Amino acid sequence: MLLIGGEWLETGDWLEVSSPYSGEVVGRVAKAGAQETTSAIDAAEQAMREPLPAHKRAEILVKVAGQLGRRHDEVARLISDEAGKPMKAARVEAKRGMSTFTFAAVEARRLSGEMVPMDASQAGEGKLAFTLRVPRGIVGAITPFNFPCNLVAHKLAPALAAGCAVVLKPASATPLSALLLAELLDEAGLPAGWLNVVAGSSSEIGDVLIDDERVAALTFTGSGDVGWKLKERAPRKHVGLELGNATPVIVCAGARPDTAATLAANAFSFAGQSCISVQRIYVMDEAWDAFVADFVPKVEALKLGDPADEETDVGPVIDDGARERILSWIEESDGELLTGGDTTADGLIRPTVIANASPQAKVSCEEVFGPVATLTRTTSLDEAIELANSTRYGLQAGIFTGSLHEALQAAQRLEFGGVTINEAPTFRADQMPYGGVKASGNTREGPAYAVRELTEERLVVIQV
Ligand code: NAP
Repeated sequence: MLLIGGEWLETGDWLEVSSPYSGEVVGRVAKAGAQETTSAIDAAEQAMREPLPAHKRAEILVKVAGQLGRRHDEVARLISDEAGKPMKAARVEAKRGMSTFTFAAVEARRLSGEMVPMDASQAGEGKLAFTLRVPRGIVGAITPFNFPCNLVAHKLAPALAAGCAVVLKPASATPLSALLLAELLDEAGLPAGWLNVVAGSSSEIGDVLIDDERVAALTFTGSGDVGWKLKERAPRKHVGLELGNATPVIVCAGARPDTAATLAANAFSFAGQSCISVQRIYVMDEAWDAFVADFVPKVEALKLGDPADEETDVGPVIDDGARERILSWIEESDGELLTGGDTTADGLIRPTVIANASPQAKVSCEEVFGPVATLTRTTSLDEAIELANSTRYGLQAGIFTGSLHEALQAAQRLEFGGVTINEAPTFRADQMPYGGVKASGNTREGPAYAVRELTEERLVVIQV
């Protein structure tokens, strides 16, 4: 069903949601088009005519966080079913969803402007001034398949905390978790129209969200191709983009002994389908032999299989198209295959490690978004940093080292939105400012930062 103006609606047309592992249908959703999207915007406009006070917004968000905790098994199972995400990772995502709603509730309660020191200039003498933070207006939110619960939470919770009504378009492959969040918000007392969910044709829904002037802000997480076009087509809207990465990490000689294990887990969890999945590993000469000897067996020890199994580390990629693309990139890469490169009997891509592929190979410079990591031997930190910076992406990067000097060099010179030191660049806690530079995006999420993006300052000047 769709949620528009507080009503759960059918359209007569259905979107079937299938398990990426078994192909079984795991749910169906009423399919929306242009007309339903316009109705959703009408409902959002109507809702925003009666602003919800901050304490009510916060209470609703806190209630949802509580329900995500109480219904943890169901939420994790739904994520796993529709995305093919192993239960281990789905449980982490479901818990992070609680965190996202909790931090957004905090932001709703402390949303405020600031005093302006007016008598600091002659012109301002005798006046007081302050700013109010006001909601930008209706938010159009578009989300990807790979975190169907928590990335939807990162759109809905801050927008509602900011006092904005939302029209959400979840990924067609994974709309079920989004609808469950909508149900929880509805049960928590969110009045009609504040959240509307339309699943269906991306171009039809996207066109309406772009063209309708009542939508003040678009917040998009997904691939760069789609994201940057959206921004081009909506020059007068506030457009926030969270896009892809080809995540690099540098391993130096003094790295912690568990570095290989950490990187093996973070390159292949959810079959590499995280925007900050470890992809390009640059290993210093002196560390190379020991690291390769440690890393490859750790990768081979990962358990492949049914995502519903609590022991599984690596499951399927989202669909056959993605699988064929990833296999063809492995095939055409010019490096040495250290492990993987093929598929299991049930069609899963085996975790693949490629050594010393050229910088021009797709696995070295594009986002693989699959269970593939490259290892490249480097002779100096300068070279490693240069290679890490050499793609068009800039979301997160990391370094493992025992040297403060190397760590701080990397922090200063890696051109990314975030740099992790002695932690995989796949790390994210939900309150962090998270987002990319270069082709990876133009915004920061994390409730405090997203609320700032989705509100604007209004100046109030008082003649005393
Ligand atoms: P995608 O193909 O770009 O899809 C993302 C969303 O955009 C989906 O809801 C999709 O709808 C919609 N969409 C597609 N074409 C559209 C159009 N013309 N107008 C409006 N909406 C349109 O990305 P994905 O494959 O789902 O996700 C993987 C990508 O997301 C990767 O590049 C990954 O790095 C990136 N990502 C980034 C972050 C981050 O925080 N930076 C987090 C997660 C993922 P349909 O599903 O109906 O096609």
